[in-house]
Amino acid sequence: MRPMPELGKGSVLRPAVGAPLSRCEQCGGYAYGGAPSCPACRDLVDGIVEAEWRSFLRSWDVGGDQETILAELVVDEPNRHDWRVVDAALDRLVCPDCGDRLSRGPTDCAACNLAHGFRYVAIETDRPGVPPGNEHAIRVNVSVVRRPQITSEQEVLARRLALPFFLIGLLPTRQEAQRMSALIKRSAPGQVRLIEQAMEELFLG
Ligand SMILES: [Zn+2]
Ligand SMILES: [Zn+2]
Repeated sequence: MRPMPELGKGSVLRPAVGAPLSRCEQCGGYAYGGAPSCPACRDLVDGIVEAEWRSFLRSWDVGGDQETILAELVVDEPNRHDWRVVDAALDRLVCPDCGDRLSRGPTDCAACNLAHGFRYVAIETDRPGVPPGNEHAIRVNVSVVRRPQITSEQEVLARRLALPFFLIGLLPTRQEAQRMSALIKRSAPGQVRLIEQAMEELFLG
């Protein structure tokens, strides 16, 4: 079994609706958008999930020794909890089949695939002032970035580059999203800056 990577520290609060975009000092892209390859961005993305888990723990007044039990309870009823709590709970459980964090193992691990499917019944609550579905977009992109091995490289690229914009409350229309995905499919591997510019135009106008 390979050692589990340390869970993200999550010391930073996720960006508020309408907040300005900030740059990541480590990768130079927009903060959050360099995950999973940029460690600083990856910590930020993990932090979205971890911060909610910590406040969930506080609300239950549960000590660290009971975290696993609580995580099992959450994963048994994912439809009753916020998506971030469900994702953090999955991180705390070990997959009985592959030994990775539950739901984050290799593409052919049946137990991980099952858990991954169930995560999408969790509660997604849009923040005030965002287009409906913004929180869903965030949750999908966070999920893809945190389990990139099950998705094509181009899709991971699109998801990670869009995440900083979703976090400040933006969401493309269906047509805009289709145009963007066509552009990404046409682009050659490595044309990250081109796609980033297209996203800036789309979201920031
Ligand atoms: Zn970064
Ligand atoms: Zn597994």
